[in-house]
Amino acid sequence: MTSHALQNLSFFRFLSIIDSDLASRARLQGCSFCGGVLHSACYPRKPRGWSVELETTAPTIRQSFCCDICRRRTTPESVRFLGRRVYPGFVILLLSAMQSGFTDTLIDELQLHLGVARRTLQRWRHWWREIFVATPFWNLGRGCFIPPIEQAALPMSLLDRFSGRDAQSQLVRCLQFLAPLSRPGVITLNDGR
Ligand SMILES: [Zn+2]
Repeated sequence: MTSHALQNLSFFRFLSIIDSDLASRARLQGCSFCGGVLHSACYPRKPRGWSVELETTAPTIRQSFCCDICRRRTTPESVRFLGRRVYPGFVILLLSAMQSGFTDTLIDELQLHLGVARRTLQRWRHWWREIFVATPFWNLGRGCFIPPIEQAALPMSLLDRFSGRDAQSQLVRCLQFLAPLSRPGVITLNDGR
């Protein structure tokens, strides 16, 4: 599942379609500051953590809008990007979830093919278990799960709670749950990129 999803262009394109839908809804709502009309102000992202093929062909535009009255920017939720992190959200989610089963050989492979170093994996794990659990998002969201999510086993314990016809559907549902974290400013830059 891990390597398949990480190398799968059609999966990333599917996530892009979900992001387009999230962006359309945000645009319809208009500017949250003044109610003005939102105009497209997309910007490119250069995410790390996948194969050369994906780097050159994947749709990596981050949708964003600018208000025609107050000029403030509105960036909608995303299932592809987790805030301003340089790795796509699903890479962070999957590799963090699988980490306890990683051998030294696999970690070397991740470094070689995806540029994900051991210390990056350790930072992500720290982020899930120490920083994510303290966010207002999780304080509210964890109440949706009965019995409670085991925080020491995040993010696998969270991923396990989403059902789907296959592992990718399960992953997509979890990313949709986490999408509010993708908006700028919800998570900070120095928390485990
Ligand atoms: Zn406005």
